[in-house]
This record gives sequence, C-alpha cells and structure tokens, in this order.
Amino acid sequence: MTAVRLDGKACAADLEERLKKRILNCKVQPHLAVIIVGDDPASHVYVRNKIKSCERLGIKSTHIELSSETTQEEVAQEIQKLNNNPNLHGILIQSPLPSHMDEGSLTDLIDPEKDVDGFHPINLGRIVQGRLDGMIPCTPAGVMEMLRWANVEMSGKKAVVIGRSFNVGMSQALLLASRGADATVTVVHSRTKDVKEECLSADIIVAAVGRPEMVKPDWVKPGAIVIDVGINRVDDSNHERGWRLAGDVHPDVEHVASLLSPVPGGVGPMTVAMLMSNTVLATEIQHKKNGESNG
Ligand code: NAP
Repeated sequence: MTAVRLDGKACAADLEERLKKRILNCKVQPHLAVIIVGDDPASHVYVRNKIKSCERLGIKSTHIELSSETTQEEVAQEIQKLNNNPNLHGILIQSPLPSHMDEGSLTDLIDPEKDVDGFHPINLGRIVQGRLDGMIPCTPAGVMEMLRWANVEMSGKKAVVIGRSFNVGMSQALLLASRGADATVTVVHSRTKDVKEECLSADIIVAAVGRPEMVKPDWVKPGAIVIDVGINRVDDSNHERGWRLAGDVHPDVEHVASLLSPVPGGVGPMTVAMLMSNTVLATEIQHKKNGESNG
C-alpha cells in the first residue's frame, strides 16, 4: 500500500479562495498586526510568510519589529495600543519570545476578540465548552480542516494524539472529540507507558511531538490515517545546505498508512491559512458587534 498524500498546499489554496470571497463581502479591510521581538531567523521567516499570505488575500498587515532588549512592559504597552485600535482586528505575537519575557502573561493581555492565534484562556476555554465559532488555535484547526477536506470520517474512530501542548496536542484532542467530529481520543505524552502500542490501536494518528521521525511504520495500523504536525530541523550532509526538515513521522509510514500528510507541504501551509481565516472571522465578528452597538 502507498498512502495518498494529504496535500496541505492544495487544501490551503482552496480555503484561501473561500476567504477571498468573504473578504470582498467585509465592509472593512481585515487588518492583522504581527509583533516580533528579537532576531531569531526562523521566526522572521515565519512572519514573512504570514505577511505574504496577507498580501495575497488583501488583508492589511502591520509588522511590529522590536529589539531583543525590549522589556515585557514595553510589549504590554504595544498590545494595549493594538487592543484600543478599532481599525485593527487581529494581533499575533510571534513565538518564541526572548527568555526574559513571560509569553503567557502577554497573551492574557490580548483582547480575546483579536486573539487570532486562539491562545487566550477565554478562547481555549470556549473549545472545552464545545463553542467552536470563535478563535481556535491555527494548527489543530488546520488539521481538522484537512481531515474534512479529504472526507475523512472521524465519527466513532479511535484517534491518538501524540503531544499535549495547549497550542497543538491538547487543543487537537478536544477538536477531534468535539460534537460533529466525534472521534474517541487518546492523548499520549512523554510519561505514557507504551506510545507504540497506543498508536497501533489508532485509526487516526496526529503526531505533534517535536521528535524527528519518531512514528515508525511498525507503530501504524495498516490503512490508518496519519497527520504529521512536526517540523524538525535535522542535519543531513546529502543536502547542499547541510540540513533538511523532518516531520515527527518516518517517511516509510507511507507504505502502511492510507493517508499521510507530508512535511513540508502538509500541516504547515494550513496553519498559515487558518491564521488568515481567524483574521477574517475576527473582522466579521468585530464589525457586526460595532454595527450593533452603533445602531
Ligand atoms: P511541545 O510544546 O514541545 O510539546 C511536545 C509534546 O510532545 C509534549 O506534550 C511532550 O510530552 C510530548 N513528547 C515529547 N517526547 C515524547 C515522547 N518520547 N513520547 C511521547 N510524547 C512525547 O511542542 P508543540 O508546540 O506541541 O509542537 C510539536 C511539534 O509540532 C514540533 O515539531 C513543532 O515544531 C511542530 N509544530 C508545527 C506547526 C505547523 O504549523 N506545522 C505548528 C506548531 C508546532 P510532555 O508534555 O510530557 O512533555
């Protein structure tokens, strides 16, 4: 068996077409602000990709670059300014922040309606309540979008999520178990006794662990669906740049799975597309609310 490739770029392109139509119907131009602190090269690449996506879709973007010496208080003040700007609909703080900063406390300051990353406790709490009409973290939301795009039946299926971070694994588990998706979900983590055994019982595996190629072919039930969230940089002398990107799933899993998302070109493009989707949704929600309070 060779798995069908779950093409995140094609799924993202489809979503973008739908978003373009919604943006045309918006009474105001969606506007996203991205705050980046410090000079981590990978973070700058991620921010550039997000800004390029905005440009492609007609979303206005404001790029706020702060030096690594910036204080927590200065970033907090920047967030307050953006919260108070009625012409700005989404705020994203690019992770990671320099080590002297407390990312969680800064996320708490973002107006939940502008929290397009979906990391504010109010937005995460809404997922627990099954209220999925607001800001949902982009990566797990992108995985759900991909599964639905590929017509994967999740109801009653056993799903194993590897990883329990709030931004990926735990949110992913809640989304898979939510009404409408209806999977039966197991979350595994570094203290799980036998991760391989758990994976072997799964119809759907979502690997969000950050360990290159950890999920091996003999961990996967024949015909299972495997989503690889991992993005890991590994040394590779066969590559002219000396490194390559690897997922959390071994490439040979394609000989066992029925559907497999590649790295790169799988979940990555969907994460950016869902950020655009959250920005459009934030604009629609804020515009409707402002219209109601004015009228
Ligand atoms: P994270 O916060 O480091 O969480 C990793 C999780 O994996 C933790 O829950 C950890 O368990 C678990 N884990 C570690 N070693 C394990 C093992 N040997 N067996 C089972 N579980 C283990 O990472 P993250 O932010 O969730 O990201 C996970 C991966 O996804 C990374 O490769 C990251 O780069 C990638 N990512 C990709 C995208 C995208 O757009 N494609 C977006 C976000 C993240 P404990 O909780 O017990 O420590």
